[in-house]
Amino acid sequence: MKPFDFVIVGGGIAGVITSYFLQEYKTLVIDKKGILEGASKAAGAFLFPKISTKSSYTEFINLAILEAFKFYENIGIDTHKKGVLILPRDEKDIEKFKEYEKYITLPFEKRENGFFFRDGGFIEVDEVREKIKVPFLKEEVVSIKRENNLWKINDLYAKNIILASGYEKVLEIPYINIRGIWGERIEISGEWEGDLDIFYHKKCSIAKIKDRLRIGATHKRDCLGCRENEKEAIELIQKAKEVIDIKKYKIEDIKGGYRAGSVDYFPVVGKIIDVDATLSLHPQIVKGEIPKKVKYIEGLYIINGMGARGFSNAYLCGKMLKNHIKNNANLGKIDTTRLFIKWARKEGEKYLKGKKC
Ligand SMILES: Cc1cc2nc3c(=O)[nH]c(=O)nc-3n(C[C@H](O)[C@H](O)[C@H](O)COP(=O)(O)OP(=O)(O)OC[C@H]3O[C@@H](n4cnc5c(N)ncnc54)[C@H](O)[C@@H]3O)c2cc1C
Repeated sequence: MKPFDFVIVGGGIAGVITSYFLQEYKTLVIDKKGILEGASKAAGAFLFPKISTKSSYTEFINLAILEAFKFYENIGIDTHKKGVLILPRDEKDIEKFKEYEKYITLPFEKRENGFFFRDGGFIEVDEVREKIKVPFLKEEVVSIKRENNLWKINDLYAKNIILASGYEKVLEIPYINIRGIWGERIEISGEWEGDLDIFYHKKCSIAKIKDRLRIGATHKRDCLGCRENEKEAIELIQKAKEVIDIKKYKIEDIKGGYRAGSVDYFPVVGKIIDVDATLSLHPQIVKGEIPKKVKYIEGLYIINGMGARGFSNAYLCGKMLKNHIKNNANLGKIDTTRLFIKWARKEGEKYLKGKKC
């Protein structure tokens, strides 16, 4: 069989959108669970702006939000764009919000100590699965090797691999550290009062969907043993009660998952650096020198670290990755190189000593 041009390991939103952008190539998505079954299955899939003081991260997130709305609407996915009211969590936040206001670039109105944005909505994960069809194989990737200038993934051959495996590692890459942060998204039926034509974000995100309330948040670090449970669901309901007067409820559904985040919160996208070759070519990197050039591992890419905004970040990251693959376009802040430089300064010397032993 002719080798694939691209095998994408991971069929979450990052892998699916990447496959969508690479349709002109012979591409396959491999996932051990299915399409949109990892963190992507648990997501409330809310799309809404971020507010903060001046920050290139917030600028990236908000550009991704606007682009994602256009993308989903163009392919006929309902974005339920009713607007979002972002509310301060506490007294301290009220003060912070006064500062944030100076840096808001998207249209907004002030409401109840918070900011209301028209650019707020959510999508249904099932609708994404239905509208974006990708070539798919259900299988766990247990082996990735280089053989005759190709990649061998289990028993399949490909010219290129794209790692989109979320918080799980499929290859050891010393300078990339992706962490899983646990969260849950629940749905409740019951009785409540309040303006539910819009949706809310305070300590959690809350939206009315048909006759249910959807409530979601990811917040638990270092919780690799976490499983969906009612105690956490009730904690979420308590947070939601700070915004909506929930009089009676019945928990109808609980979905949990680990969203994947990088150490500096930015997504991690692009070619993978050949650590040994680059360090032997420029040993001064470990002393803080910025390398003029780095060596990459042939045909190996990553798209990961989508954070709490996977359903918007994945679109912009997938688009940028495609332009990088096709035209060598610059990836800016999301490029993996920034992590390599940081890691080499901190850990490079220890790594080289370990190699000599
Ligand atoms: C509770 C919760 C609520 C959230 N709410 C929102 C929200 O409102 N809005 C938003 O934009 N984002 C939200 N997120 C974040 C969002 O879900 C993630 O950013 C996004 O789903 C990450 O997508 P991904 O493709 O990187 O990872 P995943 O969806 O985790 O996909 C990775 C896939 O890789 C597969 N895989 C791993 N190892 C292997 C292997 N060896 N072989 C084969 N397959 C493998 C896994 O099975 C998995 O399906 C939320 C997350 C959670 C957990």
